[in-house]
Amino acid sequence: MYPDRVVSGMRPTGALHLGHYHGALKNWVRLQSELPCLFFVADWHALTTHYDDPSVIETSTWDMLIDWLAAGVDPSQATLFIQSKVPEHAELHLLLSMATPLGWLERVPTYKDQQEKLADRDLATYGFLGYPLLQAADVLIYRASQVPVGDDQVPHIEMMREIARRFNHLYGKEKGFEEKAQEAVKKLGSKRAKLYNELRTQFQQQGIESALEQAKAMLDDAQNLSMIDRERLFGFLEGSRKLILSEPQALLTESSRLPGLDGQKMSKSYGNAIALREEKDVVTKKVRTMPTDRARVRRTDPGDPDKCPVWQFHVVYSDDATREWAAKGCRSAGIGCLECKQPVIDAIIREQEPMHERAQQYLDDPSLVRAIVADGCDHARKLAQDTMRDVREAMGLSYS
Ligand code: SF4
Repeated sequence: MYPDRVVSGMRPTGALHLGHYHGALKNWVRLQSELPCLFFVADWHALTTHYDDPSVIETSTWDMLIDWLAAGVDPSQATLFIQSKVPEHAELHLLLSMATPLGWLERVPTYKDQQEKLADRDLATYGFLGYPLLQAADVLIYRASQVPVGDDQVPHIEMMREIARRFNHLYGKEKGFEEKAQEAVKKLGSKRAKLYNELRTQFQQQGIESALEQAKAMLDDAQNLSMIDRERLFGFLEGSRKLILSEPQALLTESSRLPGLDGQKMSKSYGNAIALREEKDVVTKKVRTMPTDRARVRRTDPGDPDKCPVWQFHVVYSDDATREWAAKGCRSAGIGCLECKQPVIDAIIREQEPMHERAQQYLDDPSLVRAIVADGCDHARKLAQDTMRDVREAMGLSYS
């Protein structure tokens, strides 16, 4: 199999807020030390909904990259790049579009959903229909093994897997594949070659899944195989196709969902967000003016934390003791709402302090961000070109 790799992107359509931090960025920061990660600015995706006003995209791109760095994404661990600087994404998107049934795209649940949510925009466009396919190209081009997603994105990953499978089925038929695969089997050494053939037969003739898993594990351990031979042998196990594109897995991550100041989804367009690099006095003002449980009209009225958006902030930001103090104090009217909000304000400001510090160096010298992205684009492009070489060859477009 291809090496483990994580790919994830974000659309540059405005400044990032704490909802992005708790929902995705914190997870990226954790993942970057565990696996090779590629994080990209999905500027072409932003165009699928903002094609009539692209002015926001360039500024948001650089602001967002500074937000990532401020949040702790580390360019010495992860690759940071801009999607449109790696034009191979567009090439793969085009080539995949040739064989992707229209119904697959129309069935994606978020297609109709987003059209309804963004009713003020005309999204009856070819680009918008095709955006899950562009997402598939973004991931498949790096042969990513894992894609961090929330529950609502799982159908997109499932579709990426179907697209990869269909591509391998249509184009993985290599000339002389059987002979090349048999040659590769010999390279395993006689003992392992015998076991490989037995396991392959067990899977192909009796459908024994554990035999397939055992054979895959053996191939993972085989040190002396070239990448191409390994892929042939993986393909040979299940049929007579080479695996050109690999099927990614959804990496379902536990992220805390931080709602907006009004308890709805945090979004800049709803006016209920705290920016990732918000100034201290703005944080204080925003939290102090947050709505609370309506039952607490007077200081002496008891409240119910479950009916208050501030409580959701305590869930994310406070320790057990503070949460207990807030919940008890709320229900007994022992504390006032401003008192209850203070630990949340303090925790947000504490969380943002290192972010402001990290961001400052990039704000002082924007060329640093440009250099990080230039390196990231070079690295991403090399990986993408490796895949495209195989894709073009498989589709008869290499003209060599
Ligand atoms: S005391 Fe706290 S949890 Fe209760 S209503 Fe006020 S802000 Fe909300």
